[in-house]
Amino acid sequence: MLISDGARRVIAALEAAGHEAYAVGGCVRDSLLGQTPKDWDICTNAPPSRVAAVFAGEKVINTGAKHGSVTVMLGAQPYEVTAFRIDGAYGDGRRPDSVAFGCSLREDLARRDFTCNAIAYNPSSGFTDPFGGAGDIKRKLLRCVGDPDCRFREDSLRILRALRFAATLGFAIAPDTALAMERCCGLAGNIARERVSTELNGLVMGEGLTELLTRHKRIMFEIIPPLSPADGFEQRNPYHIYDVYTHLLVSADAAPKDLTVRLTMLLHDIGKPACYTADENGRGHFHGHGAVGADMARDILRGLKYDNAAIKAICELILHHDAKINADAASVRRWLNKLGARRMRQLTAVRRADRMAQSALAREELPQVDALAQAIDNALAEGQCFSLKSLAVNGRDLEGIGIQPGKRMGEILTELLQKVMDGELPNEREALLAFAATRRSAGRQ
Ligand code: ATP
Ligand code: MG
Repeated sequence: MLISDGARRVIAALEAAGHEAYAVGGCVRDSLLGQTPKDWDICTNAPPSRVAAVFAGEKVINTGAKHGSVTVMLGAQPYEVTAFRIDGAYGDGRRPDSVAFGCSLREDLARRDFTCNAIAYNPSSGFTDPFGGAGDIKRKLLRCVGDPDCRFREDSLRILRALRFAATLGFAIAPDTALAMERCCGLAGNIARERVSTELNGLVMGEGLTELLTRHKRIMFEIIPPLSPADGFEQRNPYHIYDVYTHLLVSADAAPKDLTVRLTMLLHDIGKPACYTADENGRGHFHGHGAVGADMARDILRGLKYDNAAIKAICELILHHDAKINADAASVRRWLNKLGARRMRQLTAVRRADRMAQSALAREELPQVDALAQAIDNALAEGQCFSLKSLAVNGRDLEGIGIQPGKRMGEILTELLQKVMDGELPNEREALLAFAATRRSAGRQ
């Protein structure tokens, strides 16, 4: 076990003051997996006031005294130090009605969600692992501490955490835990919305989503009800080999680990069931599903309290995921103007993942996606002009030839930009001013 110097110092200082202290939870799990922990959580029998006194020389933040936590800063590194506690009953299935302090390490470990998260480590006493967490980590198995039905009924957030850990750690869910998740899935709708989005973000960044979220689709439909019509919705179209829900999952698995892109894939065809029509040959079409899907996604993401920037990005990508985009230089400049470089790169990732989750016929179009990505890279590498910022003239230049600031000037600048993007004018000062001069007189007449 590799424990960080800072965590070792925190534990040593608490022990020197006569307390017990252990690293616990995600950091121990990640170390046993051979990964470097993101942060170190410490548990102790010292109450928060004692912890604060022991670290009187350091910055101590009162993060959650009610839950027994303080954060000790050693330099820039935070250490969350939490008193051993037993959680009381969960009246609302969200958080304990009460917490009791003054219990033992073993009792503190027993309140934790999964065996892999219920291991403590201390440099002198080694591991405390009463629930077989280390063995489960070795077997790559996610298992509830205690009776899974009770644990999910106590706190339904754990149902979603189970999916998140399974996907991010690459663990299988132990059969009794998986069955209990299904039995309790109706409770997933009760999880606080903000916490759903945190876990969902982790989940979609994981692996093996197709298998996991096919098995546990009912949980997904509880937290995102509009996904449910996609389940089993046959597309009756040579471009597709999966029903809509499966296609969403396969495309998410195929996407790079960019959160915006992954969330987009999970939702991108959500408008399809509502837009389905069949032609005289019985072939399915989904006209307008991008726009309908973007509207649906906006409602879903707002409901889950995503921030406006994330919502805007995802809805833009859904709206345009299926748009006809030519890879010629002028078309690429126009799209760059409309969506910006970052979004256009994400859009190519979305289109690639979408194709990868379709039929062999659809995958024949992958080279077109690559050509678009290449054209975007070229435009950016060459510093091609697709915004007013990079136009070779600005308002002051136009003023210099007698065009007064105002609406007309704005129109002329926009027209210059359009012509440059379309390749009708070079992005050169002289040529642009000469053209602007012709518009100046046109504007006067
Ligand atoms: P991550 O690497 O994602 O931070 P983590 O295991 O550290 O994973 P946290 O959410 O930071 O997860 O929680 C810290 C620890 O607190 C967990 O390892 C687990 O022992 C315990 N825990 C957190 N949430 C719950 C919960 N809802 N029910 C029971 N125990 C929980
Ligand atoms: Mg953590």
